Amino acid sequence: MKAIYPGTFDPITYGHLNILEKAARMFDEVILAVADYTAKQNYFSLQERYHLCLEASRHINNVKVMTFSGLVVDFAKAQDCKIMIRGLRAVSDFEYELSLALTNIKLSGDIETVFMVPSLRYMYLSSSMIRQLAVLGGDLHDFVPPHVADALQQRMKGRENGQK
Ligand code: ADP
Repeated sequence: MKAIYPGTFDPITYGHLNILEKAARMFDEVILAVADYTAKQNYFSLQERYHLCLEASRHINNVKVMTFSGLVVDFAKAQDCKIMIRGLRAVSDFEYELSLALTNIKLSGDIETVFMVPSLRYMYLSSSMIRQLAVLGGDLHDFVPPHVADALQQRMKGRENGQK
């Protein structure tokens, strides 16, 4: 069976990868779907997020990285996927994830959301925390793969030099 793991991945972290690795052991194929439109103001562009995800998931054979725009349920249907994976961290994720899952059921009754819990060490890891850590010059290596840490550091340098 095929599953889709959608998100912003801005940028991808070891928390996302922990969920992805678990999902890849449970399903025949997992599509890591990088969202174009999100309500958040993205730090990395869609193409940058896509490439960071591609490199980060290279070691998992049954993962395919794709980008999508529009509704995730429409994209899942177009890919013939009936299972959507979402990660659940501490209590704070629950309400948002539940309302998202219920909205998606309303939009498309055939797609089921499967929640997966990360290993304890990733429970409090989020992309927004990583971005803040990067701004403050913290060590990123326990939280994101080396190429993501490099991309964040390059982006910081660019900002210091006045680039966008
Ligand atoms: P979105 O903008 O759709 O919430 P994210 O890229 O922030 O996308 O996250 C994608 C999914 O991965 C969400 O279900 C989120 O809860 C989950 N996730 C993010 N970080 C972690 C983590 N450290 N452990 C487990 N799940 C996570």
